[in-house]
Amino acid sequence: MVRYAYAFSEGGRDQADLLGGKGANLCEMARLGLPVPPGFIVSTEACRAYLATGSEPDGLAGAIQEHLTALERAAGRRLGQPDDPLLVSVRSGARHSMPGMMETILDIGLNDDSVLGLAKSAGDERFAWDSYRRLVQMFGSTVMGVDGALFDRAMEGLKQDVGAEDDLGLGAVDLAGLVETYKELILRETGEAFPQSPAEQLHRAVLAVFESWNGERARLYRKREHIPDDLGTAVTVQTMVFGNLGPDSGSGVAFTRDPATGRPGVYGDYLANAQGEDVVAGIRNTVPLDELARIAPEAYEQLRGHMAALEAHYRDLCDIEFTIERGRLWMLQTRVGKRTAEAAFTISAAVADEGLVTADEALTRVRGDQLARLMFPRFDASSAGDPLAHGIPASPGAAVGAAVFDSAEAVRRAAAGEKVVLVRKETTPDDLPGMVAARAVLTSRGGKTSHAAVVARGMGTVCVCGAEEITVDPQRRCFTAGGTTVEEGTVISVDGSAGAVYLGEVPLVDSAVARYFETGERADALVDAVARAMEHADEVRRLGVRANADTPEDAARARRYGAEGIGLCRTEHMFLGERRRLVEAMILARTDEERDRALGALLPLQRQDFTGILEAMDGLPVTIRLLDPPLHEFLPDRTELAVRLAADEARGIPPSEHDAQLLEAVNRMHEENPMLGLRGVRLGLVTPGLVGMQVRAIAEAVVERRRAGGDPRAEIMVPLVDTVEELRLVREEVDRVLAGVSAESGMPLDCPVGTMIELPRAALTAGLIAEEAEFFSFGTNDLTQTTWGFSRDDVEAAFFSAYLDKGVFSVSPFETIDRQGVGRLVQIAVAEGRAARPGLQLGVCGEHGGDPDSVHFFHAAGLDYVSCSPFRVPVARLEAGRAAL
Ligand code: PEP
Ligand code: MG
Repeated sequence: MVRYAYAFSEGGRDQADLLGGKGANLCEMARLGLPVPPGFIVSTEACRAYLATGSEPDGLAGAIQEHLTALERAAGRRLGQPDDPLLVSVRSGARHSMPGMMETILDIGLNDDSVLGLAKSAGDERFAWDSYRRLVQMFGSTVMGVDGALFDRAMEGLKQDVGAEDDLGLGAVDLAGLVETYKELILRETGEAFPQSPAEQLHRAVLAVFESWNGERARLYRKREHIPDDLGTAVTVQTMVFGNLGPDSGSGVAFTRDPATGRPGVYGDYLANAQGEDVVAGIRNTVPLDELARIAPEAYEQLRGHMAALEAHYRDLCDIEFTIERGRLWMLQTRVGKRTAEAAFTISAAVADEGLVTADEALTRVRGDQLARLMFPRFDASSAGDPLAHGIPASPGAAVGAAVFDSAEAVRRAAAGEKVVLVRKETTPDDLPGMVAARAVLTSRGGKTSHAAVVARGMGTVCVCGAEEITVDPQRRCFTAGGTTVEEGTVISVDGSAGAVYLGEVPLVDSAVARYFETGERADALVDAVARAMEHADEVRRLGVRANADTPEDAARARRYGAEGIGLCRTEHMFLGERRRLVEAMILARTDEERDRALGALLPLQRQDFTGILEAMDGLPVTIRLLDPPLHEFLPDRTELAVRLAADEARGIPPSEHDAQLLEAVNRMHEENPMLGLRGVRLGLVTPGLVGMQVRAIAEAVVERRRAGGDPRAEIMVPLVDTVEELRLVREEVDRVLAGVSAESGMPLDCPVGTMIELPRAALTAGLIAEEAEFFSFGTNDLTQTTWGFSRDDVEAAFFSAYLDKGVFSVSPFETIDRQGVGRLVQIAVAEGRAARPGLQLGVCGEHGGDPDSVHFFHAAGLDYVSCSPFRVPVARLEAGRAAL
């Protein structure tokens, strides 16, 4: 039978799929004997069942009741018991952390009677009424759907009436009145009274949390983070503990290490006389955690002990939420902490040094996308000048953009192509669209754990928070800092690593990590940690890593970045610029003689290109692909040419013979769908002399390099092959030319000849194709295009965002390999290719070769190497190492 609820004692950290990350870790802490307020968890399975049918699954109500009864028995009091109520919180908690994106309801169990009991048991009437007021407000907006602004307005009105400056100026009687106002408001807006039954409150709160899985915020967040839409959330029901019971109470967040740098120590924020929500929301400014040693020494010592125990247990940075209720410490949440890219590397190196994890395990804790982020440029401190303001460095990196003051404006300007920085007093989950659109987020309030900080870090967006020197005025759409007023649209620069904000655009410099790949220089602890991860990845990986490069400079850079050869040298890039004229002459040639002359002029240029690349990659394989795109790409645009000639004609100027020829050729070669037209191997087969010229240039470059004492390793690759017949025909010419150059030079030429697999038919007939191919390289760009029937040049802009919204897929198949479809074709081709030719060399050179997730797939599929752009080579090396573990 399916079970829908679990006691804390029944779960553990490995059950995040079923119990959510928060729930699973609460179970783990309870099992470790840490002081966790008792509770239970409603499973993700219950949520999925509810969302699938839109109604509550059988057995859910019974399961909740059963666990509630057990909780009540252990506590010795009932939920909402009038004289001494048990109160619970109801919180969301999915498999993946989605901070602030779903609903939470606190103080469930309060009603008109139990509020009096709470006042008595806590000895604090104001506190009891304030808690009740919070419940009615949260329940009213979250469960009953009343506009939250109405509650805020009622509260503001009351404050004005009694002359209170803030919430603390409202007394018990004021708050009791406010509860009545809130209840009337709910009745007026919904036609239904606020439910007095604690059981009903609990039940409806659980369903509201389920519903919030599909709220707009949550959906947007999942899309951004590539979290599948069908996981559902668990719901944690937990006994309330109160951090707002006076000065000996409070709430805080702690990290077992600095989440920004990975250095051990005490990091976190504490807020006295406050609920946990107040800390995260950044409503009041917090104090650094070590001040707790002064405020509540005993609780502080206990907390330090629990932090050490958790880090030893998880063997990683943990973040912790805790509450102190009248001097007594309660642990409310822990998890292996979110971290910056920098901290991921420094922490993994540090815990390996401390012997907590092996080198293999340390490598599993750093990711290619984090490495890529560290290779971004940073601000040039020498030309930055004095910052306009300082704040907390909450999410590292450097970004420049126009200041904007609300989420909608950020979205609007970003959609129009402008870079923006979202500036707010503090952010709330409603600001998410603007945070996604912005290059950086700047807030004037809140600590490292405020909403802005947590969300920006998770997204890899630059963030400075708590910049108290600035005063944000969203109405006038400006902020001021030390006498300077910055209007909306003014460009500012935000340094999320240093926590500084500058007026104007600050120039950027390369990162030390990128410099390490260039020079090998280990400038600091972070670079050293990256270097160690790279060394270990190189030791354990099976996949080779090559680069896509078609100039000697790119080849040399790729080699410095650790490429073990070139997996794709696109020769079409060598036909551009000045050389266009020569290609044009080849196309327009009317006699063999004319064509040979044009090809003869191209030959030495191509040879020179190849010589340079082979020199840069001396001793390593260089896969040179024969020309791929349709020839008309090298001719003038058809419409432009026709318009020009028509205009000349109107002025009585007849077309020159050359222009007339050109127009005829352009018209003849025009294709409605060139991507599926005369390109790739087809072009080589129908354009006399083209393949011969390219192969001769390659062969002569090899000869030249050998004569210069080099070790050139050219491989010749044929693009867009559909059938083995095409390859057979091209090979005849390739072999003939190689034999010719070999005879002329007296040097044996043993360049392997292979093909791209980038059409479904090629993948499905790979066994036959392998008879003629010494290697395959999967062109997953075209293979994705032709398998899905998606034009790679059009669809991403045209409709992918709608497809992502609708959940057709959670990531573009052009970015991450589609394992089920395109990946399946790769698997078939690998198996049939190798069966036909043992030792067949297999690689991939589509964009997916540098995508972390795809690298894992190619490792598992048994490829020999991946090839990607030079900048992504380190990422591919790292991920290839991780894939091998
Ligand atoms: C491919 O199709 O994946 C490929 C590498 O070739 P191109 O991108 O040049 O078409
Ligand atoms: Mg291609």
